[in-house]
Amino acid sequence: MSEALYEGKSKTIYRGPDDGSLIIRYRDTATAFNGEKREELSGKGGLNAAISNLIYGYLAENGLKTHLLKVIDDTAVLVRKAEIVMVEVIVRNVAAGSFSKKYGVPEGTDLKNTVVEFSLKSDELGDPMINESQITAIGIADSSELAEMTRLALRVNNLLRVLFVEAGIQLIDFKLEFGRAGGGLILCDEISPDSCRLWELGTDKKLDKDRFRRDLGDVLDGYRDVLRRLQNVRKM
Ligand code: C5P
Repeated sequence: MSEALYEGKSKTIYRGPDDGSLIIRYRDTATAFNGEKREELSGKGGLNAAISNLIYGYLAENGLKTHLLKVIDDTAVLVRKAEIVMVEVIVRNVAAGSFSKKYGVPEGTDLKNTVVEFSLKSDELGDPMINESQITAIGIADSSELAEMTRLALRVNNLLRVLFVEAGIQLIDFKLEFGRAGGGLILCDEISPDSCRLWELGTDKKLDKDRFRRDLGDVLDGYRDVLRRLQNVRKM
């Protein structure tokens, strides 16, 4: 593998075979609270890669444009190079996490409508929440890109909710990232238990990174359960 171009918190990015592509390798590093909590969890990279690849395959089958070009091996993928839009798009179906804390809404409360939020991608500033007029004012994205990110995020939400419910899982919330490529926006980064809250239907057992954030027990047991359930659904 060539020299790393960028080392993220849980993935490393390498030069691709041509100018229009990159290689992303998922690592076993788990981090939370902007990198303050950090642990190596052997096998996490492979689990997140498998889950994210399966989800990206499903989204692509349903007409969504994604960065995924090819699965290279258990932890590496070839992706289309894109100019990352420097906001995280967060979609919420049920109150949890920072939303519950900030607005005093108990975790697990069904939301009357789907919430779409944006936060600035900045480790230095702690990814602060940012609204649409602030995003356009700073020039991070224009209003048509914001409308498109919102539309795509809601479409991804509808598709993922169906997939996860079939797998016996409730999709509580998740984070997406988009990139500019070929004159449009494509889905970038991973969709995995690191970036989604996933609760077992019926029991509300947490199967996602909250197990790590909150010391709830064997973190990867939850991730393995998510992969096994999704693989069963996709086999049908
Ligand atoms: O922490 P918060 O409740 O705002 O997170 C909402 C959702 O976005 C969660 O599923 C969380 O895993 C995800 N997220 C993420 N990366 C961040 C912030 C949030 O994947 N930097």
